[in-house]
Amino acid sequence: MLGEAGIDALLGMVTGGISLAGKGGKVLKYADDVGDLAKKEKTAKFILAKDIDSAKKYAKNELKLEKTSVFDKGINVDVANGINKAIFDIKNTFGNVTEKGYIKDVSVFRNVKNSYAKYSINDGSIYFGEYILDDDAINKMKEIAEINNKWGGWSSNNTFHSVYHELGHAVYREKCAMNSEISEKIVDLYSKKYYNIVGNNQWTKNINANSIKWISNAKKENFSYYGLRNENEFVAEAIAQYFCSDNPSDISKEVVKILLGE
Ligand SMILES: [Zn+2]
Repeated sequence: MLGEAGIDALLGMVTGGISLAGKGGKVLKYADDVGDLAKKEKTAKFILAKDIDSAKKYAKNELKLEKTSVFDKGINVDVANGINKAIFDIKNTFGNVTEKGYIKDVSVFRNVKNSYAKYSINDGSIYFGEYILDDDAINKMKEIAEINNKWGGWSSNNTFHSVYHELGHAVYREKCAMNSEISEKIVDLYSKKYYNIVGNNQWTKNINANSIKWISNAKKENFSYYGLRNENEFVAEAIAQYFCSDNPSDISKEVVKILLGE
């Protein structure tokens, strides 16, 4: 087990300088009894788990995940803490997405190659590729986030960007599928930004002379090109940037405002 200073330094590094206390609330360190302490405090505070069993307990008892498949496989505790913190932030901001069944489990892809992460509307689970089980998963996640942020595909370079992104799909599903007023406002904002960045053209994942221009337009808006793909990716990228970046774009802040009905 790492000492307290050790893990703090590590988490500070892997989260790209963003404080784990960040927008979601205060972080408690190393509570001996996670559940009891949280009850005593009676306010939402994220608690770093010191080992994978505590992380699992926290995910089930405090975050109310139905299943903890990825934790059961024995992932690195820093990755587990990052995943839990992301779910904590999303719940703290958008409400009871786990209790309502929009996020039931965090799991690993089976028989899927070359897929990084996914939110499944069929079973309400977030899936990751098998890299998530590696001891050095956190380094890989950081590297992938930096590469994708650099070319303009992702709206932040945070290690846990993809976790927030996939959770963002769950929020989209709840807020936009269930509320036409919110949904219409999102479509309006998306259409406006799409036009500013891609014009009257068809979004493409292929890199060509046109998309290079659009990628650069998206960067000028401090947003990601991938987030222009459709309304669902727009919301997922906005939510990820809102939590993962020290300097989220106006787009991201506006999307969160709309989702909160403000
Ligand atoms: Zn997505």
